[in-house]
Amino acid sequence: MPSHVVIGGGITGLAACWYLAKAGHRPVLIERETRLGGVIRTDHVEGCLVEGGPDSFLASKPAAMDLIRELGLEADVIGSNDHQRVTSIVKGGQLVPMPDGLMMMVPTQIMPMVKSPLFSWGTKIKMGLEYFRSPVENPPERSVAQLVREHYGQEAVDYLAEPLLAGVYGGDPEELSADAVLEMFVSMEKKYGSLTKGTLVMRAQRAKQAPAGPLFRTLKGGMEQLTQAIVCQLADKMDRVQGEAVAIRKANFGYEIELKKEKIYAEHVFVCCPATAAGRVLGPVDERLAELLSAVRYNSSVTLALGYEQADVEGKINGFGFLVPKVERRRMAACTYVKTKFDHRVPPAKALLRCFLGGAAIDVPEADLIRDVLAELKDLVGLTKMPMFTRVTRWTGAMAQYGLGHRARVAEIRELAGKHPGLHLAGNAYEGIGIPDCIRGAKAAVAGL
Ligand SMILES: Cc1cc2nc3c(=O)[nH]c(=O)nc-3n(C[C@H](O)[C@H](O)[C@H](O)COP(=O)(O)OP(=O)(O)OC[C@H]3O[C@@H](n4cnc5c(N)ncnc54)[C@H](O)[C@@H]3O)c2cc1C
Repeated sequence: MPSHVVIGGGITGLAACWYLAKAGHRPVLIERETRLGGVIRTDHVEGCLVEGGPDSFLASKPAAMDLIRELGLEADVIGSNDHQRVTSIVKGGQLVPMPDGLMMMVPTQIMPMVKSPLFSWGTKIKMGLEYFRSPVENPPERSVAQLVREHYGQEAVDYLAEPLLAGVYGGDPEELSADAVLEMFVSMEKKYGSLTKGTLVMRAQRAKQAPAGPLFRTLKGGMEQLTQAIVCQLADKMDRVQGEAVAIRKANFGYEIELKKEKIYAEHVFVCCPATAAGRVLGPVDERLAELLSAVRYNSSVTLALGYEQADVEGKINGFGFLVPKVERRRMAACTYVKTKFDHRVPPAKALLRCFLGGAAIDVPEADLIRDVLAELKDLVGLTKMPMFTRVTRWTGAMAQYGLGHRARVAEIRELAGKHPGLHLAGNAYEGIGIPDCIRGAKAAVAGL
C-alpha cells in the first residue's frame, strides 16, 4: 500500500510530489490525462514559443522561484522587459496607454492621470479626492466592483478593474470578492482609508528594502520547462497512474481511492485537482465538505496565438499589448505582444500575438474565433495581413472564481478537511490562483504532515 497518493498532475500536484519526495516519501501521482502539467502547456510552432496557458508568474511571490532554484533552473529564469511595459486599454475603439503610476487600479501620480484621456473629469476629481478618505474600521464584504466604485467611480471599474482582473480570473468584478481578490487593498482601506495613500506608503517601504526587479518572471523554455523538470527529476522517485479518480472513501489506516479500473489505498491523500473535481470525489468522505468544494465556481478561457512575419506587424505593435474592457464588447479580452514582453520567445524575423478570450468563446468553432479576432485586430491596430500560423487552446472550467463569501467558505473547507486525518487539499481554489500560490499551497500541505 503506498503511503502517499496525489490526485491531479498540474503544477499543484507536481509540486506536492516534489516536496513529498524531498521529505523521503515515494508518492503515487494519479492524473486523468496522458500529459502532465495541467493548464501549463508550452508548444513550439515555426520557431516561436507558444504558451497555451500561463506565460509567467508574479515575481513578488517567492514560492515559484524557491522551487525553480531547488530544481536547478535558476539560470533559465528571465524577467519581463519592464522598460518596454506600456499596456493600452481600448476605449471608444482606440488604444489608450494606461497612465503612469497605476498600481493595478490604484492611481498614485497626479499628472499622468490628469492628462490621460482614459477617464472623464468627474472620475479624475473623484480619484484625487480619494486620498482624503478616512480609515474604515470593519468594512462589510464587498465585490471588487463595489470597492473600486466607492473609491474611484464606475469608470475605474469598467476601464481598470474589469480588464485587469479578466486576465487573472476571467470573471466579473461585480461577483468577485474584494476580500479574497484584493486583500491588500482592503487592509489598506482599514489602515489608511485611501488606497492611493496606502499604496504610496507601501511603495516607499518597499523601495527602502530592495531595488524593484521585474514584475513577471518565466523560464527561457516556457512555463512547461518547470513541470517537465519536476517530472524528469522525479522519474525514479514517484509512481504514475494514468486514470481518473472517481471516489475517495475512508478505509482501514487511510483512504481507498477508486479509479475507473482499479482501487488504490493510501494513508495520506493529497487532492490537488480543481475544487469541482475534488467535490465530486470526496462525497463519500464528507458530504458537507464535498458540497462546499463543488460550490466553488470555475470559468473557462481560450487563448489564441497568432504568428506573423515581423514585417507584417511593423509599426502597428508596441508595448506589452492591450486590454479590452467588457463594456467595449469585443471577442478579445486582451492581446499580448509576446516579443516585447519576454526575450527568447520569437525569432527576430517573426512576431507573435497572444490573444486571451473569455469563457464565452469556449464552444465557438475555431474558424469563427480566428475570423472575429482578425477583424478586431484590423479595427484596433490596422493589422490586415493573414497570420502564418494560428493556435487555439481551450481551458474548460480552469479558472477558479473567488466570489462573495469565498474566504468564509475556504475557512469552513479547511476546518472540515482538518477533521479527516491524512486528507490534504491544495490547488487554485483556496488561497490564490497564481502559480506561486499553487506551489505554496502544495508545500504547506506536505509540511502539514
Ligand atoms: C489560460 C490561463 C492563463 C493563466 N495565466 C497565468 C499566469 O500567467 N500566471 C499565473 O501565475 N497563473 C496563471 N494562470 C493560473 C494558473 O496557471 C493555474 O491556477 C494553475 O496552473 C493551476 O494549477 P493546478 O495544478 O492547481 O490545476 P490544473 O492545472 O487545472 O491541474 C489539475 C489537474 O488535475 C487533473 N484532474 C482533474 N480531476 C481529476 C481526477 N478526478 N482524477 C485525476 N486527475 C484529475 C486535471 O486533468 C489536471 O491535469 C492561468 C490559468 C489559465 C487557465
